[in-house]
Amino acid sequence: MTVKDTQNLIKDMMDRLYEDESFLPEESGDARRRFFQSGTEILTTTDKIIKSSIRVSRDNREIERIPAFRVQHNNIAGFYKGGIRFNNLVHEEEVENLAILMTLKNALHELPYGGAKGGVVVHPNDYSTRELNMIAKKYVQRFTTDIGPTHDIPAPDMGTNEQTMDWMTGEYKTINPGKNYLGAFTGKSVENGGAKGRREATGRGVYYSYKWLLHEWAKSIEEESQVSAGIHRKQWHTLKALLDKNKEGKPIDMAVQGFGNVGSVAAEMADACPDVRNNVTAVSDHQVTLRRRKGLDIPKLAAYQMKHRQLPSTERELEEAGVEAEIAGPEQLVFEDVDVLILAAVEDQITEENKEKVKASVFIEGANAPIDQHADRYLHDNGCVVIPDVLANAGGVMVSYIEWKQDRVTHLYTEKEVLEDMTKQMAQSCEKVFVSYFTEGLSSIRNTCYIHALKRLFTLLYKHGKLY
Ligand code: GLU
Repeated sequence: MTVKDTQNLIKDMMDRLYEDESFLPEESGDARRRFFQSGTEILTTTDKIIKSSIRVSRDNREIERIPAFRVQHNNIAGFYKGGIRFNNLVHEEEVENLAILMTLKNALHELPYGGAKGGVVVHPNDYSTRELNMIAKKYVQRFTTDIGPTHDIPAPDMGTNEQTMDWMTGEYKTINPGKNYLGAFTGKSVENGGAKGRREATGRGVYYSYKWLLHEWAKSIEEESQVSAGIHRKQWHTLKALLDKNKEGKPIDMAVQGFGNVGSVAAEMADACPDVRNNVTAVSDHQVTLRRRKGLDIPKLAAYQMKHRQLPSTERELEEAGVEAEIAGPEQLVFEDVDVLILAAVEDQITEENKEKVKASVFIEGANAPIDQHADRYLHDNGCVVIPDVLANAGGVMVSYIEWKQDRVTHLYTEKEVLEDMTKQMAQSCEKVFVSYFTEGLSSIRNTCYIHALKRLFTLLYKHGKLY
């Protein structure tokens, strides 16, 4: 997914909003057209791209220079907010695209934040703890004037975790004595002001978006005639087929790509869900796909992953984990013969090239942008349901917001409060998006999300007098 693709989608959805005369602004004719033109211009332009290079002395005493980025897309809805990614393939355009997605995600869920993202071109597994600590601290040194609790608040993303955020917070505190440092980063350890349940939040939200659609919405619609005339009936039938399976006492088969913080938690939720009967038949990580038609032992796999940071990938490791499974290559996962596919690994997994070979009918984007726009359109035209990233994976940033609030008043929310708050927000967003998708007939769930997000952003631009 390129920045251009995302910008084009924003433009298309802004054109749709322009056609909707019941939507702001009050001015009509030429003035309305100009307001929309300038709004589109602002929302498809990135505020700031900051590039630097981090010098690390490796354990073997060699000096390495590592490119690093922070991209601030837009802050009309609040302080810039978004994770920092440590990945050897990360590049400026990817970071910019992810920053735009953060602006949309935060606006969709009505969080008081704008959108940003960071990236460092390193593969964390290739570096020692001492080296990673140095990289984290130097990142803060390089970008210190651009981040802060009331300006731009980073969080973990791919390749970073609470340890990284704790190191960064420590460095920020050293560089900025006397400032509120706890609220400068979210996703920290609980001892350091982090919210309880932050690690699980994204995976829980991912599963919840699917459960809400099936259990709260589709189940309440008994008849096809209750779905507005002609609107997404194919999608309704897709969901109904899954519900019917459960009604007949059969489970819904599911595969999960990626078994880190997002995928493993989503798989555990699916496996243990009392409301929807799922059967997780395949999971994967960067090394392996594990498959078992009767269902994998997810609690045992999650316990193994917690200990080893990866799935068992040999017969001996499967034995150690106490798990029965067939072993296949990691690239096999997206082609599994299942009903539901949770994509919780990396971008661009279902694309123009492989879209015709996937067999699932419901797709949930736990990662950011795993389905490209060609595949998205193709799947939709074929009656599939795609729950997009901006809706499905927002649990993390929702809990980041709780953490940021608690750091400002030094109050600690209980894990129960955090999870209840996140689930409530997720339910509100799901209701808003799914109901308007099935009643107003926007061409995909992603487009529906974009429309809701852009309505909020455009309204704020208008109210702030930024349109001309
Ligand atoms: N990196 C996560 C995301 O893509 C979380 C961002 C945050 O908590 O600020 O949504």
